[in-house]
Amino acid sequence: MSETLFEKIINREIPADIIYEDDLSIVIKDIHPQAPTHLLIIPKKVIPKLSDSSIEDQEVLGHLMLVAGKVAEQLNLDNTFRIVINNGAKAGQSVFHLHLHLLSGRSLNWPPG
Ligand code: AMP
Repeated sequence: MSETLFEKIINREIPADIIYEDDLSIVIKDIHPQAPTHLLIIPKKVIPKLSDSSIEDQEVLGHLMLVAGKVAEQLNLDNTFRIVINNGAKAGQSVFHLHLHLLSGRSLNWPPG
């Protein structure tokens, strides 16, 4: 299997604006931001999409949520942000390596488009 785009970023094969990293995850700035703050919270384990995850991924999935909260706190986002996971091409997923979008810094409509 060829490396995913995000594996190449994790392995420093292509550059990215990395704002946080630990054993299980990495957080980068989205290259095409949809809000003043638009981060991607990415597990180092390659899970193509959320619906491919299983009970053995429980720790890493929970970890991603905790990292989202921690990074939001560090960036002083005023406890105001949205987490999005696009699951599948028809839901807008373009990179098939699970990631959470964290969006903040502008009004966010509901329901999302
Ligand atoms: P999704 O469409 O949910 O799979 O999200 C993939 C995201 O990755 C999009 O918001 C893209 O803008 C973003 N993206 C694509 N290439 C890069 C890159 N080289 N560095 C940072 N973000 C990227």
